[in-house]
Amino acid sequence: ATAPSVMTMNGHFAAVGDAPTKEQYEHGIQVIDDEKEYNPNLNTFLQQTGTAQAGFNYHLISVFGSQSTGKSTLLNYLFGTAFGVMSESERRQTTKGIWMSKNKRESDDRGAHKMAENILVMDVEGTDGRERGEDQDFERKSALFALATSEVLIINIWEHQVGLYQGANMGLLKTVFEVNLQLFLKDKQANPRSLLFFVIRDHIGTTPLSNLQQTLIQDLTKIWSSLSKPKGLEKSRIEDYFDFAFAALPHKILQPEKFEEEVLKLGTRFRAGHRVSKPDDTHTDQELEGGVFLPEYHRRIPADGFSVYAAGVWEQIVHNKDLDLPTQQELLAQFRCDEIAREVLVAFDETIAPLEEKQAEGTRLGNLIVIAELGISGLKARSAAVKAFEAEASRYHKGVYSRKRVELESKIDTRLKALYHGQLSAVHKAGVKSFSDAVGNAVKIGQKKGASYEFAEIVEKEKTKALETFECEAKSLAVPGVPWANFKQQYKLFEKELDEVSARLRREEMRRLATRIERWVKSRLGESVGLEFNKLGSGRGGSGAPEEGTKPTEKDLWDRIWTLFTSTVKEAETRFLDRAQSFDASESEKEVGLWRLRRKSWAVLRVRIDEEVMEGNILLKLRENFEDKFRYDDAGVPRIWRPTDDIEGIYTKARESTLALIPLLSRFRLAESYAPPPLPDWIGHAPDAVVPDDEEDLTPIGGVDEEEGKSLEEEMTVLSEAKRQDLVVRFKKMADGVYVEAKRSAIGGVTQ
Ligand code: GDP
Ligand code: MG
Repeated sequence: ATAPSVMTMNGHFAAVGDAPTKEQYEHGIQVIDDEKEYNPNLNTFLQQTGTAQAGFNYHLISVFGSQSTGKSTLLNYLFGTAFGVMSESERRQTTKGIWMSKNKRESDDRGAHKMAENILVMDVEGTDGRERGEDQDFERKSALFALATSEVLIINIWEHQVGLYQGANMGLLKTVFEVNLQLFLKDKQANPRSLLFFVIRDHIGTTPLSNLQQTLIQDLTKIWSSLSKPKGLEKSRIEDYFDFAFAALPHKILQPEKFEEEVLKLGTRFRAGHRVSKPDDTHTDQELEGGVFLPEYHRRIPADGFSVYAAGVWEQIVHNKDLDLPTQQELLAQFRCDEIAREVLVAFDETIAPLEEKQAEGTRLGNLIVIAELGISGLKARSAAVKAFEAEASRYHKGVYSRKRVELESKIDTRLKALYHGQLSAVHKAGVKSFSDAVGNAVKIGQKKGASYEFAEIVEKEKTKALETFECEAKSLAVPGVPWANFKQQYKLFEKELDEVSARLRREEMRRLATRIERWVKSRLGESVGLEFNKLGSGRGGSGAPEEGTKPTEKDLWDRIWTLFTSTVKEAETRFLDRAQSFDASESEKEVGLWRLRRKSWAVLRVRIDEEVMEGNILLKLRENFEDKFRYDDAGVPRIWRPTDDIEGIYTKARESTLALIPLLSRFRLAESYAPPPLPDWIGHAPDAVVPDDEEDLTPIGGVDEEEGKSLEEEMTVLSEAKRQDLVVRFKKMADGVYVEAKRSAIGGVTQ
């Protein structure tokens, strides 16, 4: 509905609801239209005109005054803008609303006094509703909006209106003051001041400006004192809120050249200035030096947040809500800080998301990936994000900014933390593997060389290396000043696992050693036990073991076996301990090793004995024993049987003697005590440190492992009752054969 009138009067402007083009922004934008709608494209306008990037380096001016007092004309001359001007012939009112344009005279050559950068000008139309008998709602609302945002309010007034206290202008000023009191009621701390810059038009020159000034100030003071002030502000003075400046311009139509000349001069006053006396010393612009823009007038809204701020302020005004500027500033800060945080997170994402993806991919495939230079990329992305945030967001409300900064950092850190922990898991896994490989290789090399390598030293060296690598990676991930990023916990965990791996490797190494020693025991026992049994073959004893010189009797066979068994194992234990020393094995590990060695050695012996008494073997030995007794005389001379010989007597004696060996062989018994050897005591109790793994390959031993249900007696049974009887039968048969043969040869010898 507003479009046609907009086109008539402000045809070049981007109106509310338009899809604006860049050209339109060149001229300006309708911030609020006559329907009191706010233009959401204001920020685009600020972007397009390069204002949004200016931070605090911009200024905002609004102009007030009765309709058709040449306000828009003045602005267009002063700032090179193109605000709608009533045509001389039509005398039709321009559209209500608030228009904004950017100063185009910024770079004009004005000698020493150039205008300030980024001056935004608001032309407030329809602020004189009272004159036309219209409702004063818009007047009030636009006054509030202008005051909440502008540093300088230009009050445009005809010279002949000065001193007309009842005039429409004064009514407008009353509104401005009232609105101001309402506005800053909640913002006493900030108490931002504004400059009321009176521009007196059609100044004839007969009354000097200073006189007009005096009159205006008197009128203003009168208006101020007539205001009913809110509670707590009864004593406030007009100068608590406003500074004043004055300028006079000649008649534009009657003195066009002088008018332009004075406008040019006036333009130079729109630059930075400072105060030379205390704010409430006087009411005149004599107290300002330089330009009219005092830092204290600035509303401290960063340019990139202005649009959001203005929208919020207008929203409150339109709905007749109390305008609470501090709250508006906080809301703005929240909004903008969130927006800026999102922007910086986009850049952060560009670096971090691909790394997260890579890591997740690795995890999915079960192949943890160590990302090169992750700490550097992470730290770079983090500080870039935080710096970018700081640069933009720190201009906003301090409390909100710090809170949002903490939020942003925590968002960033949550991402980095997950990424870094993933990285350390990968480093951990790789580190454990290369540690265990390195130790394994070093051991292999040591074994190949045959030298007695120092296992403990190898482990220590590789562990130091692995820890250094881990620490190096963890350090590269540290974020200075950020407590979660020191990774002490992860380091400890890694060290713990290395220790576990070392312990496992050492156990394996101990096992290998034990196996070697057991093999040695086996071969030693294999030989010596065999020799002992071979002695049985010699029935008269002694002749089977000539190297001994003594005559071992058959009766103490087991004593000798036990002795040589225990002494062999003793020697093996010494060898074992010797080597275990170089692994840095603990006392309990050694204890377990020895215990296992004794058990396994016994098992070896037991198997060896079983081999010896296997049917064929033992029968052969008995036969040798018997034949030795039967075929040789006491002097060891072979018998030639004659028919007269007592073959039967000799046979019976030899047979009984050999048969007596069978019960002896059947049980492992010591001669003196006629009891089993003290095997349980000799093996000893299982040490406390024994883990199920240690027992896995151990054969149960009767009388030692009680829960196995086999007694020591059974353990020591070499030949079962059945086997014994069977052996007796077989032996007798065999002996009978020898006897018959002897008989035959005796008869045969006679017939020869
Ligand atoms: P606005 O409604 O206050 O914005 O006034 P305009 O700028 O639209 O001007 C209203 C009329 O006043 C126009 O016809 C102008 O030509 C005229 N005008 C502009 N400047 C002056 C001036 O300095 N003196 C006089 N007497 N008329 C002016
Ligand atoms: Mg106008």
